[in-house]
Amino acid sequence: MNSYAKAVYAKLTAINPYETEFHQAAKEFLESISPVLDKHPEFEASALLERITEPERVILFRVSWVDSKGKVNVNKGYRVQFNSAIGPYKGGLRLHPSVNLSIIKFLGFEQIFKNSLTGLPIGGGKGGSDFDPKGKTDAEIMSFCQAFMSELYRHIGQDTDVPAGDIGVGGREIGYLFGYYKKLKNEHACILTGRGLSYGGSLVRTEATGYGLIYILEEYLRTLGKNLKGKKVVISGSGNVAIYAHEKATGLGAKVIAMSDSDGYIYDENGIDLSTVKRIKEVERKRLSEYIKYHASAQYSQGCGGIWSIKCDYALPSATQNEINLEQAKKLTANGVKAVAEGANMPCTIEATDYFLASGVAVLPAKAANAGGVATSALEMAQSSQRIFWSFEEVDKKLKEIMINIFRNVDKAAKEYGMPGNYVAGANIAGFLKIAEAMTAFGVV
Ligand code: NDP
Repeated sequence: MNSYAKAVYAKLTAINPYETEFHQAAKEFLESISPVLDKHPEFEASALLERITEPERVILFRVSWVDSKGKVNVNKGYRVQFNSAIGPYKGGLRLHPSVNLSIIKFLGFEQIFKNSLTGLPIGGGKGGSDFDPKGKTDAEIMSFCQAFMSELYRHIGQDTDVPAGDIGVGGREIGYLFGYYKKLKNEHACILTGRGLSYGGSLVRTEATGYGLIYILEEYLRTLGKNLKGKKVVISGSGNVAIYAHEKATGLGAKVIAMSDSDGYIYDENGIDLSTVKRIKEVERKRLSEYIKYHASAQYSQGCGGIWSIKCDYALPSATQNEINLEQAKKLTANGVKAVAEGANMPCTIEATDYFLASGVAVLPAKAANAGGVATSALEMAQSSQRIFWSFEEVDKKLKEIMINIFRNVDKAAKEYGMPGNYVAGANIAGFLKIAEAMTAFGVV
C-alpha cells in the first residue's frame, strides 16, 4: 500500500475503531488505488483520501412503531450521505437485524465508486435499520416503514438523496415508504427508486441487478471467446438479485444447480426450478427448505455456507457480505470454479479475493458486477424527470450497454495500471478517478 494510503488507513481505523466492515472496504480500496496515488502526489496535498473516506453526513435516528399486539418497538434508523461529488446521493435501504453503522458505512463507501462506474450522475449513500422484517405482518411492515419515513423525509429529495431497496426492502416496502413521503410532503417526486409501475417505477428495475450481473459475466466470457451455454452455476441467496440472475443465466443456456437463504441451501444437479423459488420467496415469503416438497430430485442442507462446496463453473454470491471466506474460496478453486461474479456487496473476504486472484480465478467485483441495479435506478430517475416511460426492451438495452461499458472501463484501468485481469483493482481505480477529478474541481469543500 502507498505510504499516504497507509497513513489514511491507520487513522480511519483508529478514529472508527469498531467499524470492521468499513475498515475492510476501505482497505481493499486503498490498496487498489495505490498505483494511482504514486502518480498523483497532489491528492495528498489536498487531503483527498481523508475527505473521501469521511461521509459528508451521517444521520442516525430513532424509529418507534407499534406492532399488531399493541407493543411499542424501537429501532435504529440510518442514512449515510457519503459523497455527492458527481450527483445526488444514491443507494439502497437495508432492513436486517445485523445492520449497524459500520455496515451502512461500508455499503455507502462502495456505492460511491460503483455509481461512478455506471457513467451516470449519481453520488453514493446508503441507509437502513436493524428492524427484522422476517415474520412480520403487512400491517407491521407498514407501521415500521411509515415511522422510518417520518424522519427520513427531511433528508431526501429528488436532487438531494434518492434511496432504493436492498436486503429486506422490495416493492412492498418501497410502496409504503413512498406513500408516506407523498402524504407528508404533498409531493409526487422521484425520491425513491424501485417504485411500482403504477406510480412512477421503471420497467426492468426489478430484474436489473441480477440481469446486469449476468450481462457483465457474459461480456467477460465473450472476451475469452466463451459463453454460458451448458455451464454449471451456483447462486447464493434467493432474493431479488439471486432470482433474476438465475432467470437471465438460464435464459442464456446455463444450469443453476444450487441456491440458498439464510437457513440453508438447495441443490439439484438437474437444475433449480425458478418458478418454484419465486413462488416460495416472492409470493408465499416462506423458507427455501419448502422447495424439496415440490422437487423430489433436490436436496436441502442446513447452513448456507455449504453451498460453496458444490462443484461449479461459475459462482455468484448474491446474499450478503463476507459469505465466502478463505476456506470456501479454496474449496471452490479446488473444484475448478473459473470465475466469481459478485451479486452481493463485498461477499468475499479480502483473503478469499486474494486467493482467487492468486489462483487465476477471475473476480468480477461487486462495484462493477452488481451496478446494474443502481444504473437502472438512475434510468428510472431520468424517465421521471422527463415524465415519460421507456419500454422493457429500451431499458434492458441501456442496462446491457452500461454493463458492457463498465467491464471495458474496468478492464482498461486494470491494464493501464499494470494489473491485467485484476478487475477488483480496475473497478476501484476507474471508479475513483472520476470522483477525484470532480472533488479536485470543487476545491476544498
Ligand atoms: P433480498 O432481501 O431480496 O434477498 C437477500 C437474500 O440473501 C435472501 O435469500 C436472504 O435469505 C439472504 N441473506 C440475507 N442476509 C443473509 C445472511 N446474513 N446470511 C445468509 N443469507 C442471507 O436482498 P437482495 O437480493 O436485494 O440483496 C442481496 C445482496 O445484493 C446484498 O448484498 C445487497 O446489498 C446486494 N445488492 C442488491 C441490489 C438490489 O438491487 N436489490 C443492488 C446491488 C447490490 P433470507 O430470506 O433467509 O433472509
